[in-house]
Amino acid sequence: MDQADLARHTPLMRQYLTAKAEYPATLLLFRMGDFYELFYDDARKAARLLDITLTQRGESAGAPIPMAGVPYHAVESYLAKLVRAGESAAICEQIGDPNGKGPMERKVVRVVTPGTVTDEALLPERRDNLLLALAADASGYGLAWVDLAGGRFVLSEVADADALAAELARLAPAETLVGEDLAWPPAVNSLKGLRKRPPWHFDAGSARRELTRFFGTRDLAGFGADGAPLALAAAGCLLGYLQETQKAALPHLTGLAVESADETVAMDAPTRRNLELDRHPSGDSRYTLLGVLDSTITPMGARALRRWLHRPLRDHATLRLRHQALGALIDGGVLDALREKLRTIGDLERILARVALRSARPRDLATLRDGLAVAPGLRATVAPLDAPLLHELMERLGEHADSVRLLQAAIVERPPALLREGGAIAEDYDAELDELRQLSTHADQYLVELEARERATTGIATLKVGYNRVHGYYIEFGKAQADKAPAHYTRRQTTKNAERYITEELKAFEDKVLSARERALMRERALYEGVLDALIERLAPLKDAAAALAELDVLAALAERALALDWSRPELADEPCIAIERGRHPVVEQVREEPFEPNDLLLDRDRRMLVITGPNMGGKSTYMRQNALIVLLAHIGSYVPAARARIGPVDRIFTRIGAGDDLARGQSTFMVEMSETANILHNATARSLVLMDEVGRGTSTYDGLALARAAAVHLATANRAFALFATHYFELTELAAQFEGIVNVHLDAVEYRDPQQGEQLVFMHAVKDGPANRSFGLQVAALAGLPKSVIADARQTLAALERGEAPSRLSLQARGASPQSDLFAKPPDPEAGKLAAAVRELDPDSLTPREALDALYRLKSLP
Ligand code: ADP
Repeated sequence: MDQADLARHTPLMRQYLTAKAEYPATLLLFRMGDFYELFYDDARKAARLLDITLTQRGESAGAPIPMAGVPYHAVESYLAKLVRAGESAAICEQIGDPNGKGPMERKVVRVVTPGTVTDEALLPERRDNLLLALAADASGYGLAWVDLAGGRFVLSEVADADALAAELARLAPAETLVGEDLAWPPAVNSLKGLRKRPPWHFDAGSARRELTRFFGTRDLAGFGADGAPLALAAAGCLLGYLQETQKAALPHLTGLAVESADETVAMDAPTRRNLELDRHPSGDSRYTLLGVLDSTITPMGARALRRWLHRPLRDHATLRLRHQALGALIDGGVLDALREKLRTIGDLERILARVALRSARPRDLATLRDGLAVAPGLRATVAPLDAPLLHELMERLGEHADSVRLLQAAIVERPPALLREGGAIAEDYDAELDELRQLSTHADQYLVELEARERATTGIATLKVGYNRVHGYYIEFGKAQADKAPAHYTRRQTTKNAERYITEELKAFEDKVLSARERALMRERALYEGVLDALIERLAPLKDAAAALAELDVLAALAERALALDWSRPELADEPCIAIERGRHPVVEQVREEPFEPNDLLLDRDRRMLVITGPNMGGKSTYMRQNALIVLLAHIGSYVPAARARIGPVDRIFTRIGAGDDLARGQSTFMVEMSETANILHNATARSLVLMDEVGRGTSTYDGLALARAAAVHLATANRAFALFATHYFELTELAAQFEGIVNVHLDAVEYRDPQQGEQLVFMHAVKDGPANRSFGLQVAALAGLPKSVIADARQTLAALERGEAPSRLSLQARGASPQSDLFAKPPDPEAGKLAAAVRELDPDSLTPREALDALYRLKSLP
């Protein structure tokens, strides 16, 4: 808007529009008295997002102004809503003199964005809240992310869009900055809180300059960041955005960490989803691995555990140290005592970030004080244990006696919520503050004494000392005694029956008392800032202490789980192998009522691929996933749900599971299936663990069978990966005879006749050698509630097929099971619904023998 346009507005709107011009893409909350108001498009958007009323405010430039507002005292809860919706907000406060001329001066004092919030109220407690920036060129993608509330600044680089999607699935950023000039893959475009930034914000040269200046270092080599130029370009943009929005020093960002992909057991985005690490399709996180695993006590421990789970490590030495620490905690019998001590430790990590940002509240400091005071007790508990990792953590925890002493001296035992109310700084910490407080609290005492003294000297028994807001303190007695007033009494006010006086002494007292409270508050603020200064000076060791406590919490939680759930310590081997005895699915075992059937797994040089057959519902997926989860758990340093596990080096875990439609992203089931399979065939190595469930199901039987077979052969012979290949194509059981390294296993069900319920099927859930000998598809269909007539028909056709006759027509409709009949309209459950859908595809008039066969295959294979 140019000056001429601006001039047509009212002075207040001119002020608003000038402020708004600096934050075009951010909701501007404009303080007016007791409200924050939003105008124009911001008002429309806020009304929709916050469910508040859209109104109008007068006119400006000849048009009414759309407006919506929120009361100032409730602003935090509205900000939380905006942030969750991926929106940012700039808070424009009144800072001028309320009695001045024209509109009061206003200024944007705070910008709240989803990726940079640090207020306790706006943050998810048990997960990191990340701001991410992405840079891209022909070589791949650079990532830089900051956990502002935790004080972490991390870089990584990946080669392609799949790997980028994997990182996004791992990090789940709250806000992401990308160059506006580039085309981004769907995984990026679908992110919430996406911000487009101009290309020059990603300039590598100025990124280096700005970063070295920010960290106060000569170069970035010390951080190991030189090998990640693309990530540095992203980091430059990130830093610029932080400085733009935070308007404060960020002393807790003390350095860069560079994560390298070959340190970790890689998992792509579908794998993280399929293994249900921390998200379940039902939305109930109890059904996830993290849900079972997370018994951490502190929020910072919970966040660290989530990071561990999403970043399994390859380095056996590190993992062995963790396993050993768990063993020592369990065997040392100290677990309960240790975890009890952790209960007094709050979220030190985020408190320290707020200290650094100078937004820490008095209660934060009390928590910090009590948390740090636990250190000696922890050290004593851990001292006798044989676990180098725990001792190293105690080293990093440090002493912090001086910080504890400072906080104990400075902060009252139970401070108020807000500093502005006063009463946070302890007595005896500062003589001046004590005196000021003395003055305001002992005023009553003084007045009682003064009253008694004046009564005695004047001889007026009814003399009283009083106070009113207009005239301040006064001495009062009845008009009848007015002639007894001493000469040094100055008349202040005359009421109906009384005269009121002031004296020099009372006036001096008044000045002192009235300002004492004010001055006490100011003094208190200054002292509080001093405490923050002292803590900021010691920020690095304090941050180390918080990190060590978080890690200790994670290890103690993993030990507690191992003990409570009867898990065992995995053995990490140097040669390639995965040997699991009596393994269980960590989540299914917990949520099932009936006992879980444990199963073994053996994969080694001569036994690299298991072709798994068996009825639907037999336990194939559970078996495959449990093995992947056991391998994953071993690689975060946890014990595993098995009697024994011996696991060699693993570089990646891949899964191709389920026909999870990705229609939202406009891809057919089959396309998704094939692109995931392609990714696996391109990237799996002899050290990868691959789970393939029902590959080929998304297309016709012959295509599907051919593709499944080719993929299995490629995996076994070219990738030579460890693979679990579940399939309903019995033809694939022949591979075991044709290729070395491929072995058949199966799961079973038994059929029996129940006098009441007729034919019944019991799933054994036990994995046995050899191929399954028949499909129980029809029995499963019956269990799922498919109409008896359809089952009977399918049985006949199956029998015909098995005799080698291919029926030329299937006429279900002729037998009254019309696809349109309400038998199909209301399937008894979703599984039967799928089957019904398959049957509906059987068009009796146009089916060739081959198509009939195909349809039957599907009927057999569907749940
Ligand atoms: P499939 O993949 O063969 O269709 P699933 O793995 O989905 O079968 O298993 C079906 C159900 O059987 C699971 O939901 C689970 O409750 C139960 N189940 C699977 N494996 C076991 C087991 N080993 N012990 C007990 N119950 C199991």
